[in-house]
Amino acid sequence: MPQILDGIRVRDEILGELKARVARLSAARRPPGLAALLAGSNPASEIYVRNKIRACDELGIASETLRLPETVSTAELVARIEQWNRRPEIDGILVQLPLPPQVDTPKVLLAVAPEKDVDGFHPCNLGNLMTARPGPRPCTPAGVIELLRRYRIPLAGRRAVVAGRSDIVGKPMAFLLLHEHSTVTICHSRTPDLAAVCRQADILVAAIGRPALLTRDHIKPGAVVIDVGINRLDRRADVERIFGGAPDRLAAFDRKGSVIVGDVDPLAAAACASAYTPVPGGVGPLTIAILMVNTTQSAERRLESC
Ligand code: NDP
Repeated sequence: MPQILDGIRVRDEILGELKARVARLSAARRPPGLAALLAGSNPASEIYVRNKIRACDELGIASETLRLPETVSTAELVARIEQWNRRPEIDGILVQLPLPPQVDTPKVLLAVAPEKDVDGFHPCNLGNLMTARPGPRPCTPAGVIELLRRYRIPLAGRRAVVAGRSDIVGKPMAFLLLHEHSTVTICHSRTPDLAAVCRQADILVAAIGRPALLTRDHIKPGAVVIDVGINRLDRRADVERIFGGAPDRLAAFDRKGSVIVGDVDPLAAAACASAYTPVPGGVGPLTIAILMVNTTQSAERRLESC
C-alpha cells in the first residue's frame, strides 16, 4: 500500500508550532501584520483570500484586506502597495492573483517591498532563492519541501522531475529540489515524450493545471508523486472515468455539481507510487501554512532589525 502524504496533518503541525512564535512576538512587541489586496470579483480568489485571513485570525496575526473594483488601474494598485510599504506594522503584502486583464501584473508585484514580499514572487527574492540566500520562498513549492521533509523522504542524489515551469510553482520548485541535492529535470508543454521523462523520476512533481494528465505511463513504480494541480471537473462522465466510479466522489459531485482532481490520475498514483499526495488534502493546505510562516518570519526579521 502506498503511503498517503497528508497535507492537512502537516499543515496543522506547522500552524501549531507557529502559534507559539506569533504569541512570543505579540507579547514582546506586536503581532505580525499581513495586508491582502484583492482586485475584481474572481470567486476562487475571494475564497483564497478569505481562507488566508481566517488563518491569520486563528494564529493571532493582524490582517487587513483591501478590495478594489475590476476596473482598477495599475497606477492605483501600485500606489496602494506603496502606502503599505511605508506602514511599519505591516510585515507582509499579499497580492491575490490573477489581477484583472488590464493590469500590468509584473509591475504590481515589483512594487511590493522585497522585505514584505511574503509570497516570494519579487525578482529579488527569486534571486535569493536561486542563489540559496535567505529570504521568503514561494509558498506552494516551499510547502512541498516541508511535506517531504516531515515525511523523511530523501531527496539528495535522487532524480526529481517537475512538470510545469510557472514562476510561482514549477521554477521555484525545481530550485528548491536542486538545493536539496536532487538531480532535477523541468518539463513543459514543448517537452517531447513527457511520459518518458516523467518515468525517470524518483520524485515526480506535477504542476501543470490539466486534470489527471499524468497516468501510469508517467510514473515509475515506487516513485514519490506530488500533485500540485487543482482542477475542477464539472462533467459526471469525467468524474466516473477518472475516479473509476468511486461512490464517494460521485456522491460529492451529485451534491456540489463539481469535484476537484489533480494533474495526476488518482488511480495511477495509488497503483504505482510508493507515496503520493491526495487531491484535495495534499499540497493545497500547505500553501496557506507557509504564507503564515513567511509573514511571521518577516515580522521577526523586521522587528529584530529596529
Ligand atoms: P500555469 O498555467 O502558470 O503553468 C502550467 C505549466 O504547465 C506551464 O509551464 C505549461 O507549459 C505546463 N503545461 C501545460 N500543459 C502541459 C502539457 N500538456 N504537458 C506538459 N506541460 C504542460 O500553472 P501554475 O503553475 O500556476 O499551476 C499549476 C497547477 O497547480 C494548477 O492546477 C493550479 O491550480 C495549481 N496550483 C495549486 C496551488 C496549491 O496551493 N496547491 C497553488 C498554485 C497553483 P508552458 O510553460 O510550455 O506553457
